[in-house]
Amino acid sequence: GPAGGPRVQQAKLVLLGDQGVGKSSIALRFVRGQFPEHSEATVGAAFLTQTVQVLGQTLKFDIWDTAGQERYHSLAPMYYRGAQAAIVVYDINNSNTFNRAVTWVKELRQQATGNIVIVLAGNKADLAAEHRAVSTEDARAFAEENGLIFAEASAKTGLAVNEMFMMIAHKMVSKA
Ligand code: GDP
Repeated sequence: GPAGGPRVQQAKLVLLGDQGVGKSSIALRFVRGQFPEHSEATVGAAFLTQTVQVLGQTLKFDIWDTAGQERYHSLAPMYYRGAQAAIVVYDINNSNTFNRAVTWVKELRQQATGNIVIVLAGNKADLAAEHRAVSTEDARAFAEENGLIFAEASAKTGLAVNEMFMMIAHKMVSKA
């Protein structure tokens, strides 16, 4: 950077999706490496940070969680204003949550920063062998049509959680 030290890029990342799909659990898995087995509904865990190294650069994520506000009313655009990245989460085992994710993606495409990096994340993959309601093919097709990164993940097992943040980081650092 200009002062001779390594440049630290900062990224506001918002988590979107229905209540109960696992937004807070994904954030906690990424930041603390833990799955809080007996978590109550999210109260307070509204802001977390995590720094990653990618392509020899440092990227600091400021992660905004909804803190359950999606229960009461639709989120204000100010929640995602200025976000460089979004993870839109649905529960693979609940098709309503996928429909809601589709709505969020459309809203982001209309209202958010033009070059926002969006991940479509199907969470709770650990339950999908028995309870799957959204096919991988349908979700991937929607992601491809809309220029989204796609992953099926599990905050519980950790499957694909770090990977999706690293895919975002890679995309952000390589286009900066
Ligand atoms: P949020 O409302 O979207 O933030 O969802 P939470 O993170 O509070 O998770 C809602 C519930 O789903 C909690 O009981 C979590 O323990 C559970 N949960 C979250 N992620 C997973 C997952 O990957 N697998 C399973 N089996 N349960 C999960």
